[in-house]
This record gives sequence, C-alpha cells and structure tokens, in this order.
Amino acid sequence: MIDTHCHLDGEEFREDLETVIARAREAGVTAVGVPGIDLKSCETVMEICRRYPGYCFPMLGLHPEEVRADWQEVLQRIKISLTSHLSPLTSGIAIGEVGLDFYWSREFEEAQLQAFEEQVRWSVELQLPLMIHCRKAQNEMVNILRRYKDDLPGGVFHCFTGNVLEAQELLRFDRFVLGIGGVLTFKKSKLPETLAKAVPLERIVLETDAPYMAPVPMRGQRNEPAYVAHVCRKLAEVYGITEKTVDSVTTANAARIFPSIVNKS
Ligand SMILES: [Zn+2]
Repeated sequence: MIDTHCHLDGEEFREDLETVIARAREAGVTAVGVPGIDLKSCETVMEICRRYPGYCFPMLGLHPEEVRADWQEVLQRIKISLTSHLSPLTSGIAIGEVGLDFYWSREFEEAQLQAFEEQVRWSVELQLPLMIHCRKAQNEMVNILRRYKDDLPGGVFHCFTGNVLEAQELLRFDRFVLGIGGVLTFKKSKLPETLAKAVPLERIVLETDAPYMAPVPMRGQRNEPAYVAHVCRKLAEVYGITEKTVDSVTTANAARIFPSIVNKS
C-alpha cells in the first residue's frame, strides 16, 4: 500500500517517528507521500524525507489555509526549493498541498485563487503532479484547472468526500485520481455508495491525511500511515474484492500519478 498523503512533519510525530515508520512498514506500507503546507513545513518535510530515502517522498506547496498577504514571496521561496534540489532522492515528487479552502474564511479568497493558479502553472512547467486540497470551492477549483487541462501531468483530489456528480466532474480530468482516507470508514459516510456508483477503483489512491482523520476503529486517535490498512479493508468491502487486489490496484494508480515513487524506491 502507498499512503499518498501523510503529514509526518507534524508536531504529533516528533517523539516517535521512528516507530511510526516501523509500524507502517510492518503493516505493508511501501511508500509515504509527505506534503508541505507552508515554508517552514516544506523544510521539515524535506528533512524527514532525507532521513527515509526511497520511503518518504516530499511534496512541496502552499496550502490554501496558509495563504496570507505575503503569499507571493512565500511561493517564490517554495519554488526555489522545488527546483534547486538536484538529487533525485531529495527533490519534490509533487506540488502540494495546494488548492482552495473557503470553509473557515474567505478573507484571502482572491489570494487563494491566485496562489493556487500559480502552483497549477508550476505543475505544467515542471511536469510534476498536483496534490489538491479543496473544501467548499469545487467550482472555483475546476474553473482554474480547466484552463490547463490538456497540459497537466495529473494529480490527486485529496480527501474526496463529495457526491456522485462531484466525483464525475473531477474524474473528467482523466489523469487525476481521488484520494480516499478515513472518512470512508465513518459510520454516517455516504462515500461507500458514491464510490461504488461512480468511481472505478483505477481512479483511487489510498491516503491517511495523518495525524488527522483516523479511520474506524481508530477514530478520534492520532492517525498514522499504518492505519491506511483500514481504508484498504473498507474499499475491499465496498467493491466486493480482496484487500490484496485493492492494494495492488491502488499502488499501481499511485505509481502512475507519482512516477518518481517507483523510480526511486
Ligand atoms: Zn493534508
């Protein structure tokens, strides 16, 4: 299994990262994508991924909730990190986590739109896939992506929790997949039906979004990459297939979106 989205740089892992990684390996996780959210986190992400070469892979970007008045300057510096680490083991494998989030605040709405579009342009320019976070902003996000549709290398719509129509709209971006995590296992989630109805397994990658979003039966605890196995198990139930098949198909999907994960691991 590949955990395509895991915030291993978080405070929550400072004390026991070594054992968290050991448990992930034990659970059958073969690679972990680690997204940055701001300048400082991008640095920590690179540092952690250097400690686990071929296992933890950095993604660099400015998260929509971290967009402030200084976003242009911040983006300039993140771009330098993205393009200046020439060693293939330490360079970013994706641009993320980027996107739009109008759930908490629209204070920086215009800046969020501009910062996202700028990072979408990087994806085209550097041919690096996108790791996209989107909350209460699917129309705006889709409008921006459409402008670059033919030239984008692909990416992940991370933490997908939408309905059938929203899934179909996203899947029209044919080199993109949906990131599915703990929400799938929540008791009231409509996601199982939505996926079964509208999303082929070939368009899904696994993720934890750890330390957040721990799946049942760990709900409410700190999430960690090993728990991606619970998401895999639930997907097997949803599609009526074995966990082994979910593992191999979603791993192949992740490898298609993030070719450097395979090349480097
Ligand atoms: Zn995230």
